[in-house]
Amino acid sequence: MTHAKRSPSGFNTWGNCPGSTAFVDELIEAGKTPKKEEASVFASEGTAAHELAEKCLIQSKNPAEFMNDVLEADHNLFTVDDDMVYNVDNYVEYVKKLKLDKMFVEVKLPLFYSPTETGTADVIGIKGRTLHVVDLKYGKGVAVVAEGNMQLLIYGICAYDEYDMLYDIDKVVVHIVQPRMGSYTSEEYGLEEVETHRGLIEECFERSVKADNLPENLISREKSCRWCRAKPFCGEHRTTALGPVEDMFNDLDASSGEITEDQLKVIFEQGPQIKKFIDAVFKRLEDEAKQGTERPWCKLVAGRSSRKWNAPEEDIIKALRVRLTLQEIYPPKLISPAQVEKVMKKKKCKKKFTESVNSFILKTEGTAKLAPVSDKRPAVIENSEFEVLE
Ligand code: SF4
Repeated sequence: MTHAKRSPSGFNTWGNCPGSTAFVDELIEAGKTPKKEEASVFASEGTAAHELAEKCLIQSKNPAEFMNDVLEADHNLFTVDDDMVYNVDNYVEYVKKLKLDKMFVEVKLPLFYSPTETGTADVIGIKGRTLHVVDLKYGKGVAVVAEGNMQLLIYGICAYDEYDMLYDIDKVVVHIVQPRMGSYTSEEYGLEEVETHRGLIEECFERSVKADNLPENLISREKSCRWCRAKPFCGEHRTTALGPVEDMFNDLDASSGEITEDQLKVIFEQGPQIKKFIDAVFKRLEDEAKQGTERPWCKLVAGRSSRKWNAPEEDIIKALRVRLTLQEIYPPKLISPAQVEKVMKKKKCKKKFTESVNSFILKTEGTAKLAPVSDKRPAVIENSEFEVLE
């Protein structure tokens, strides 16, 4: 069995843009994009956290028991620290609270739409006649929720096919635990919904397999393009991202010289997509320059250098202690309220103590920021004055 070309995690791309897989293949063949994308340090940290979570669940251990262990992921080394212990512990506790009758960790599942390929689910569990799929998301930039999450639903359907014979399942529940964003979400599917989605996903798969990279098979939507590796090369995406503002920039001089309200609206709505497109193009130019492509209008220059210790800690301290005090080497620093909260949770501090600590904390409001009118949060009215009541 091989790792899937049309993987569950990539569904939003290949499921919504049928030609994307063929397009990426063509770019790989032409040497324009690497066969395997280089993992960012954040992605590698997530891999390390998954490894720790797997050990804890399989060995029934607490993450703190692995404190200071060094984990390797994609040739990067990560030390298990307070932060990783705290976040992985939240995930492990979430799984434990499901009180599963059976639990399977890091399960390789044949994909129902392409059975010679597999996908890996973090945890599959059985509780009565319910099948649970639990996924750890270690990122803290973009919130990922279980509602409508096709990656998790695909694992759910694959697991249902594997375990139904043994456990007589009548419901599938998918969970996403994203501890660093404080997000714990789940979504339940009855068997009828499972079968409806199975059909839709199979249709998407067939469409993608048949797609031959003709322009009409490339469908640019925010969902499909967001993680697509073809983005910095794709004319279809360029048109979608820049199209609505292209004319506007030509029009600016011809108008009164000011940007109109309508133009501001288009820029506001289109801005995030344009920014992502431009970032992807910059990354492409940088990657190509690193591979030796020369362009007369840009070049690679040395980044800012940084310094770090390059010797065992005890040798450094010994050398510094000749002239520096221990306080100068390790200045004591008050930890933040968030860090105190973590420690208190770990130490199971009493309510009275927690209340006394809380009395020292001042909670300030975050800086107001712009959001679309569809955003669920209420609008903040700046500079509003209280009405004087007679
Ligand atoms: S960038 Fe968007 S439109 Fe272009 S191939 Fe990828 S998903 Fe399709």
